[in-house]
Amino acid sequence: MSDTYDYDLVVVGGGPAGSSAAFEAAKNGTRVALIEKEESIAETVRTSGVTWIKNIKEFGIPDDCFNPIRNFSFCSPNNEVTISDSVPRAAVLDVRKTYRWLAKQAEKSGTDIFVKTNVNEVIKNDKGDIIGVRASGPNGKITFNSKVVIDASGFPSTVCKAMGYVTQWERFGAGAEYEVKAENVDSETWWLMVGQQYSPAGYAWIFPLGDNIVRIGVGVGKPESDVDPMQRLNELIDNRVGPIKKLGKITQLEFHYGLIPNDGLSRQTVFNNLILVGDSAGQANPLVLEGIRYAIRFGRVAGKVASDAIKSGNTDKNSLYPYEDHWRKEIESKINSAGRVQDRWIGLTDEEWDKELNIIKELKSEEFLDFIKADFGLSNMVKLATRHPKLAVRQLFNLVKGKN
Ligand SMILES: Cc1cc2nc3c(=O)[nH]c(=O)nc-3n(C[C@H](O)[C@H](O)[C@H](O)COP(=O)(O)OP(=O)(O)OC[C@H]3O[C@@H](n4cnc5c(N)ncnc54)[C@H](O)[C@@H]3O)c2cc1C
Repeated sequence: MSDTYDYDLVVVGGGPAGSSAAFEAAKNGTRVALIEKEESIAETVRTSGVTWIKNIKEFGIPDDCFNPIRNFSFCSPNNEVTISDSVPRAAVLDVRKTYRWLAKQAEKSGTDIFVKTNVNEVIKNDKGDIIGVRASGPNGKITFNSKVVIDASGFPSTVCKAMGYVTQWERFGAGAEYEVKAENVDSETWWLMVGQQYSPAGYAWIFPLGDNIVRIGVGVGKPESDVDPMQRLNELIDNRVGPIKKLGKITQLEFHYGLIPNDGLSRQTVFNNLILVGDSAGQANPLVLEGIRYAIRFGRVAGKVASDAIKSGNTDKNSLYPYEDHWRKEIESKINSAGRVQDRWIGLTDEEWDKELNIIKELKSEEFLDFIKADFGLSNMVKLATRHPKLAVRQLFNLVKGKN
């Protein structure tokens, strides 16, 4: 059996980028199909879900979707630092609840959601431009004709790869994580753990979710290291390394695994009738490889620009360019700066990490958060680079400014 649908906009991928794009486009009066291959939205969790309360509020995400974080602890083999804030500014999301809320918002705005529908082919016109996709659904093949397609399929970048516009990401992070119930949890404090024993090119983490639940994970940069994050995670938990020991008895609830692009902002993200957003566009902060807030923010921009272009009757690359212009202006220089810091961090030895933590100790909480969020320029980054009494601190922040 083969069904055919005609939509103005087809969004491939029901993650945060796809749901946000669909929401904004449907709100703007466009007929939207949101296509997700899994049984339900957020069936598989592939993320640790750390984000920032300012962004959560901006997006209108409900308070019962996250656990607030106020203390930021870092440990290296022989050093430890905790930066405490007077109010919580970071958060660990209930990922499933949040992603389903985002999809619900899209549905309430008029989006038709197709789950269990795997997009596996693109439809092109005689000029070679995309004019729809084909998918396998629960009842057989489905054809979706559309004026614009948004590729929000995440790391696999299904649509733009099928169009021949991109190849597989070369540099990426691989992460493995257990969601566990633990005996002793400080629900306001996260841990980032650095050094060879945790991850030779990356870091390990403990992110609390409330109710004595935490996510313990390991991220490894590829191709820099061939360590398997799942194996390393099991070793760290079996040997109760570092702050994992403080958690006491651990009961595993769920396992998460995922890949995140780390090739910088290397991709063109608009083509005739096509937009790439979220992980398929490589929009992630390389310092901690976080991309959820960018996926939501730029998903919404993509949805608005696509629906405006559809209304105008012109959906070529130039009409969709305001989307690329918007996100480049907002994050390109920050991501480039963060990439320079990441390059420094990936090469650090254990002894160097111990010293790096001494630099981090010098930061006030808002400086630390702006730094880790790659929101350089917002607080005192320039002052830190020029006036800080410690040379090591000045050197790190000069790197952010691109002066080293
Ligand atoms: C281990 C790990 C930890 C992370 N931790 C954080 C963190 O703490 N904070 C943070 O901000 N970011 C984190 N990230 C990154 C974050 O998860 C991504 O940046 C974010 O999920 C990108 O959203 P997206 O909508 O672009 O893609 P995704 O969330 O990957 O969503 C893509 C969707 O498309 C669907 N799909 C794919 N192919 C098809 C197809 N052919 N047909 C139909 N549907 C399809 C998928 O099933 C999926 O639902 C982490 C990533 C990893 C791997």
